[in-house]
Amino acid sequence: MGYRCIQCWCPVKTLYVQYSPGNIRLMKCENCKAVADEYIECEIMILVIDLILHKPKAYRHLLHNVINQETMKFHGLLWKLAVIFLLFESYRCLILESSKGKLGSSNSVSSLVSICWKVLMDVIIGNLMFLLTFFFMVKMFFHVSITISRCIDLLLTLMISSYFKIFLIAMMVWDFPSSVIFIIELFCLSSNAAALKVMTESTMRRCVWTCFSAYAIKFIVTRILELILLGQLMQGWSQMPFTFSKATMI
Ligand SMILES: [Zn+2]
Repeated sequence: MGYRCIQCWCPVKTLYVQYSPGNIRLMKCENCKAVADEYIECEIMILVIDLILHKPKAYRHLLHNVINQETMKFHGLLWKLAVIFLLFESYRCLILESSKGKLGSSNSVSSLVSICWKVLMDVIIGNLMFLLTFFFMVKMFFHVSITISRCIDLLLTLMISSYFKIFLIAMMVWDFPSSVIFIIELFCLSSNAAALKVMTESTMRRCVWTCFSAYAIKFIVTRILELILLGQLMQGWSQMPFTFSKATMI
């Protein structure tokens, strides 16, 4: 996957020519005659603002001209992003558990273990179902074959476009209501859809439906897991007096 013009999406040989350190000339696209990628010379904050504004050119620059399989250590980046993504997801689950008052009231080892178990199940099974639904919807809506390289591309697109999760760090410092997580998830959904549109060049409606379905399945699966875990705990508590009375009788 080579470089592309962020205006018209045509392949270009190179984005700039470097004459000396700090002295570069941006290349023009042969198709549309515009500068192929003006973000090369822009400050990082301008790129961040344009990403937040969901400008397709900013996503094209980031997903195709910066994250390039031919010019960077692609798999190393994939693993690092996956670890960061899962850490943010774990922290999100912990915030939700603390908002329910479970962390504050947990003074026994067993309740702490059950919370850790729930967070682990939410993160692993929730995100696994999210990815399976996402790939299935991409196959159904966009009529493309899901190969390993396409899976990696889509996975990277999802993780990079979930950059709004970085705002969870602010919740470590300042005390926000847990409803802020819902707003962050909403921004992530819209950003995922914008990135998917850039990757597939499809309509925004299809991209939003694809991402919304994946988020909905993830939400339903985590709620079911919570109910199953709650059911097991209730069953365990209901058996405790019986076993206790049986022990005292003996
Ligand atoms: Zn062009």
